[in-house]
Amino acid sequence: MIEAVIEDLCIGCNRCVVVCPTDVFDATETGVPIIARQEDCHTCMSCELHCPVDALYVAPQGSPTQINEAELIASGILGSYQRALGWNRARPGGSEDDPGVLLKFQRKPDPNDKVRVKLHDLSIRKYI
Ligand code: SF4
Ligand code: SF4
Repeated sequence: MIEAVIEDLCIGCNRCVVVCPTDVFDATETGVPIIARQEDCHTCMSCELHCPVDALYVAPQGSPTQINEAELIASGILGSYQRALGWNRARPGGSEDDPGVLLKFQRKPDPNDKVRVKLHDLSIRKYI
């Protein structure tokens, strides 16, 4: 289950807001998304995989763990799932250059495809 958005690391790209299949996050005016509906998280790991700066942590447990953010940072676990799967050539820092991610966010959307229209709008507004 999604456990944390590390505010000090987040760059406010809103990629997690867009990729979450169950609409767990809300974008905010500060740029750092909030976990608005934690109970809707399916532990799919998509947000953690797509975060370009390893600012998210999704725990394998299906219920909240009350994990401490400082401990998360100190543990080195942030981004470890991306690295384990070989994303970004297994380097820290996330999916910034992943061509699949770039294509998904930049392709001109079919106006009937509401999800991609939303992605496109966010891209134009420099959120992603
Ligand atoms: S793990 Fe999946 S369902 Fe849970 S917040 Fe992240 S993207 Fe959404
Ligand atoms: S994907 Fe990462 S950097 Fe982007 S808004 Fe979400 S937590 Fe912040």
